[in-house]
Amino acid sequence: MSTQSSIEWTEITWNPVTGCSKVSEGCRFCYAERMATRLKAMGQKRYVNGFTVTLHADALEDPFKWKNPRVVFVNSMSDLFHENVSVDFIKKIFEIMARCPRHTFQILTKRSRRLAELSDSLPWPSNVWIGVSVENIRVIHRIHDLKKVVSAKVRFLSCEPLLGPLTRLPLDGINWVIVGGESGPKARPIDEKWVKDILTQCESKSVPFFFKQWGGVRKDLTGRLLDGRIYDQMPPRGPVQSQLQVMASL
Ligand code: SF4
Repeated sequence: MSTQSSIEWTEITWNPVTGCSKVSEGCRFCYAERMATRLKAMGQKRYVNGFTVTLHADALEDPFKWKNPRVVFVNSMSDLFHENVSVDFIKKIFEIMARCPRHTFQILTKRSRRLAELSDSLPWPSNVWIGVSVENIRVIHRIHDLKKVVSAKVRFLSCEPLLGPLTRLPLDGINWVIVGGESGPKARPIDEKWVKDILTQCESKSVPFFFKQWGGVRKDLTGRLLDGRIYDQMPPRGPVQSQLQVMASL
């Protein structure tokens, strides 16, 4: 249950959990919900439950099948720390990640409180990156929860869809920031000033900055150039370079 990903900051998605529910403004036009609805209508067996949280034990071992090192986005179609994902299942996912050191796993959550609560009971191998979504100032508390995951090698922010200014990000202890505008038919506009302000904050703290996209109804037309350049910075990964790392260094 893996798919080559068109998401610019990863290579492949792995979805041992599908389905979710909305928690904040960033969820309003959730891409995963749209996809799950479509896949259910197409009769995909993984999505018979549509966007209801569903655990797929048979997908747990997928990472063992990928021989080459991969950058893997875990649960692009869900939120690993959703309240309906059992602690036991979360631990199984961490165990698999720990046993696959050749891959780099990226987990992104909006359930930062549950992440912080469970953090000490989870192993944090160096190939697991953990991030929180920060779409506007109302959810800035997620960063404080993220910082409680002291054992993670990489803690990152995904400011996407960026819905407002984030002028004073607490970046100490943060290793990576992704910024992007919303895309899709009802995309809410991003302001260039918000993006540049985050870039300035990252530069002043030497935090790698990744600008994913301007977004909009046709994201293929708006692209991802910021002042004429592509910002593709990422934290360093393990000893084996993945395809993405090689590309970023070219
Ligand atoms: S947390 Fe993520 S997957 Fe879940 S509803 Fe919100 S945007 Fe969608």
